Amino acid sequence: MGIKYRLLRGMRDISGAEAEKISRVVESAKKTFRAFNYSELMLPTMEEAALFARAAGETSDVVAKQMYVFKDKGDRTVALRPEGTAGAARYYVESGAAANSPIVKIFYSGSMFRYERPQEGRYREFYQIGCEYFGNSDAACDAEIIHLASMILDEAGVREREIFINTLGCPACRRSYADAVKKYAASLSGELCEDCLRRIEKNPLRVLDCKTDAEKLSDFPRSQDALCPECLKHYSEVKKLLDAIGVKYTEDFRLVRGLDYYTRTVFEIKSRLLGAQDAVAAGGRYDGLVEELFGRPTPAAGFAVGVERMLMASAGQKEKYDGGFFVAVTSPAITSAASKLAAEMRAAGIRTEGPLASKSLKSQLGAADKMGFGQVVIIADEELAYGDVIIKNMGSGEQKKMKLSGLVGQLAEQNAKARDMYDMARHGAQAEQEKK
Ligand code: ATP
Ligand code: MG
Repeated sequence: MGIKYRLLRGMRDISGAEAEKISRVVESAKKTFRAFNYSELMLPTMEEAALFARAAGETSDVVAKQMYVFKDKGDRTVALRPEGTAGAARYYVESGAAANSPIVKIFYSGSMFRYERPQEGRYREFYQIGCEYFGNSDAACDAEIIHLASMILDEAGVREREIFINTLGCPACRRSYADAVKKYAASLSGELCEDCLRRIEKNPLRVLDCKTDAEKLSDFPRSQDALCPECLKHYSEVKKLLDAIGVKYTEDFRLVRGLDYYTRTVFEIKSRLLGAQDAVAAGGRYDGLVEELFGRPTPAAGFAVGVERMLMASAGQKEKYDGGFFVAVTSPAITSAASKLAAEMRAAGIRTEGPLASKSLKSQLGAADKMGFGQVVIIADEELAYGDVIIKNMGSGEQKKMKLSGLVGQLAEQNAKARDMYDMARHGAQAEQEKK
């Protein structure tokens, strides 16, 4: 029989070790968000399509080309969220959260959807974790989110990463800067790609991050030359604070970000371990966004991390050892003793599989081996009569008897010890690596 149903293009099943790794990385990021006093916001997957268009801008790639938009049965035009910021800002306005607190700091995690050309590190459904900080226009807020993003990547083990920052200035500065870029690009228009020609009219800053024309545009005007004194002061304050916290960064004068809503600070974190899609995290300040969504003028900043790319850039890191035992029986008649033991082991937090009592002992051991269990607890008729079980080490083949009473406590201890030894060995190896 052939396979009839297959994954949609750009969609993925995430299973096994990768799924576990994602859960773990997301858990660890949540802890870090909490340490910075952010609280969790669980956003809906769908919103009115107009929200994203209004927030990100009609001309942004995300809205113009990549959005999954459709009519629901009530004839509403809805979209699967391509990003989290618009929904978070909608929540901020709609919930009136500002009334309860001078600043509002939230984080979110979940799938985002973008109809783009699938390739390594680029999917049509992907996972992001991100945050928004509303109500603080100080440079300390910009520095905080950049620091936070870099900590999240560090804790996930992302290697060879570099933080790039730039400033686009307040809306007035941004406008005059966009004009300067427009003039400059127009003077070269004969040589530029079609995408750039379109961008010159609609979204001139985007010309700067064109990969095709980068060399032709090498003499581009820099945003810092177009900034007003306050914007310049804000930007140098951000850099000073990052220096004080000890966050290393590189200035990238081409960095403009794809969405219209950015003002002042923008940043991206890239890893050399990734191929063409090398951005792991991106964000910045967007002081005009809340007002754009008909809320009171409110400064805001935030970022999003792409979880798949974060894992790709941390590959090679050893997984946490989770040990565990397979419980086997020599005959189906004693299944209940095995089930009871397995229940107690699970209650003690030990990863436990079995019994698969309808199989022969031999095929149970084969199953344990295939599933990667290093140890099997065998419940055998004869031994059980004396209150004993057999522990078989699958690696060495060695078997030993243990008393059933008190067994769970001993196995839990043994499991923890094995894990400690594994972690120690791993940290030792890591320390060695870092020395090199
Ligand atoms: P890119 O330049 O790679 O298209 P972007 O500017 O569109 O990125 P953002 O909207 O800033 O990306 O999203 C933040 C992060 O989400 C990116 O840095 C990346 O890690 C991840 N990301 C964005 N689009 C995708 C995708 N289609 N598949 C997987 N991850 C993605
Ligand atoms: Mg993109």
